[in-house]
Amino acid sequence: MNTAAAANALEVRGLAVHYGHVQAVRGIDFTLAQGSITALVGANGAGKSTTLQALSGLQPKAAGRVVFEGEDITRLPSHKIVARGIIQVPEGRAILATMTIRENLELGAYRLGGHGRPQDFDYVFHLFPRLRERMHGLAGNLSGGEQQMLAIGRALMAQPRLLLLDEPSMGLAPLVVREIFHALRTIHADGLTLLLVEQNVRQALRLAQYGYVLENGSMALSDTGQNLLQHPRVIQAYLGA
Ligand code: ATP
Repeated sequence: MNTAAAANALEVRGLAVHYGHVQAVRGIDFTLAQGSITALVGANGAGKSTTLQALSGLQPKAAGRVVFEGEDITRLPSHKIVARGIIQVPEGRAILATMTIRENLELGAYRLGGHGRPQDFDYVFHLFPRLRERMHGLAGNLSGGEQQMLAIGRALMAQPRLLLLDEPSMGLAPLVVREIFHALRTIHADGLTLLLVEQNVRQALRLAQYGYVLENGSMALSDTGQNLLQHPRVIQAYLGA
């Protein structure tokens, strides 16, 4: 393994994504250090979800290059990107409401050709004890916060190397957001690389070592989470007085 691959999990150069004539992402560069939490923040419609969709291979890239752990994955189809261990936790969670919590978790392990390793179930249930208690209940009966836990748990069952999280705090009460972010901290401490897309700028930059601010499809700012929290433009545009 070369040193660049060891230092950076993901390198993105000149990524552009268009929807017809709408230029949603306009040639952005960013890097995720191996084992880090990186936040991608910005307002509604800035292009955050589109960026994640392009990384997952769910949206075609109009331009740019994506290198994951030293391998050029720019043109790989989504199932091959998933096979490399890049797993997305989608906005809105996309859990299967008429299946049990356990079945939803089993689906996460589908790409590995089984029903999930016992140690992975243990890990998810250790992170989110409420999912263990309700393992045989229908996922549709879970609260919004519990559904977010299940969506993260399902992604972990796939043994990810990089987790892409799209707005995990969306629609959740502050206490539940704290619980989710605490779990993300634990997952990071256990060695996983995380890219966190958030409109909740304050929380995201507190959690992340490094952050990028996306505005109208372009990268406006990048710095450590700490520095961005004190940046006048971030304070004015995203944090309030
Ligand atoms: P949000 O938090 O609201 O999801 P975002 O930063 O994730 O915002 P995107 O959803 O990536 O932003 O949207 C970026 C731009 O692309 C916006 O102008 C949006 O209207 C446009 N867009 C998103 N999806 C589509 C689509 N399927 N077809 C056409 N335009 C789209």
